[in-house]
Amino acid sequence: MFEIAKQRLEPVFKLIEVDEEVITRLSYPKRSIKASIPVRMDDGSLRIFTGYRVQYDDTRGPTKGGIRYHPRVNEDEVTSLSFWMTVKCAVAGLPFGGAKGGITVNPKELSQLELERLSRGYIRAFADILGESRDIPAPDVYTNATIMGWMADEYSVLARRQAPGIITGKPLHLNGSEGRESATGSGALHVLNEYCKRQQLNPAELTVAIQGFGNAGFHFAQLAQEAGFRIVAVSDSQGGIYSENSLNIKDIKNHKDDTNQLESVLCNGTVCTLQTFQRLSNAELLELKVDVLVLAALENQITQENAHRIQAHLVLEIANGPITPQADEILEAQGIAVIPDVLANNGGVVVSYFEWVQNRSGLYWELEEVQTRLAKTMRREANTVFDLANEFQTSLRTAAYLHGIKRLAGAIDQRGNHK
Ligand code: GLU
Repeated sequence: MFEIAKQRLEPVFKLIEVDEEVITRLSYPKRSIKASIPVRMDDGSLRIFTGYRVQYDDTRGPTKGGIRYHPRVNEDEVTSLSFWMTVKCAVAGLPFGGAKGGITVNPKELSQLELERLSRGYIRAFADILGESRDIPAPDVYTNATIMGWMADEYSVLARRQAPGIITGKPLHLNGSEGRESATGSGALHVLNEYCKRQQLNPAELTVAIQGFGNAGFHFAQLAQEAGFRIVAVSDSQGGIYSENSLNIKDIKNHKDDTNQLESVLCNGTVCTLQTFQRLSNAELLELKVDVLVLAALENQITQENAHRIQAHLVLEIANGPITPQADEILEAQGIAVIPDVLANNGGVVVSYFEWVQNRSGLYWELEEVQTRLAKTMRREANTVFDLANEFQTSLRTAAYLHGIKRLAGAIDQRGNHK
């Protein structure tokens, strides 16, 4: 996966001159650590989980990126995600490098206390390489504000001082930021709105299918509906629902919460048992005849296997890496535009940056200020990417990488060569 992820750089290096040594440096993660995390289970037994933290590049600032809990987490995936974080922070113009972490676990099988012990164990395993000016984690797939709160607390216990800026995406009561919860979805909508403005598209005339109903997918769906887009399909890991007219996102969220059977802070409820609508699989959702397809789940959802069956005119990547490079080519040949992850899903890390700034300054902002600054950042960077795509006559993905790599290469270059 990592080798494939790096292929995205190739078209950029053909368009702009980048020093050979910069290219070499960008091809390797700076640091990659794997640790065993022992956890005392509720029944008294001991289980060992495997955790990862990859700090890809810190030239532009302390490394930044989420921690993922998923049964399929492995070093290759975490490395790819840390590489994307590096590009993403550069595209957003944040003073951060990129990192990512993860634990190979199905967190839905753990009780609340087991989940808390595992999360604190992760911090104990990696505390030496984390820090407000070193590496700052955040939530990702199947981790959330509560888990970030436990982690921040564990770090402050180890460090024997208050250190809220060690991690972002914390609960509001524990020095989190207003607007962080909805930031990824909100940021993606700003990018989509800018795109629609430039293409003279009217949201009210656009149908949207959304794969993924977690933090990013749900908030995007809700905000997009409020903005006038017609959401006709949504799905989660268990399947999806479709309605020709439109779905009411609030009702669907209530249903998902109502069907939750977990007693931990995570949710295993689903949207797909909502009887009133037509049921469909995740694969079917991707191939619906809609105007906008939103990918807000996991990597590798559109591959060379299904790319030629995609019927949407536009694909918005809110997940990280949901389209493979081979699939990109097929979509491009079919005239389907893709708004890439390294631009579209930046809202999360942008508000993480605002949270970190608030933690470090001690001055906390009102929601309106967070939202205004987020909108400004997303619109500015989106329009720069759209302009670059026009100037170089290239895809939006290559334009976004170009934008980020210019900043990164500039930083690497200006740091000097005496390493
Ligand atoms: N996990 C999110 C992402 O992939 C947020 C990262 C962060 O806020 O540091 O962008």
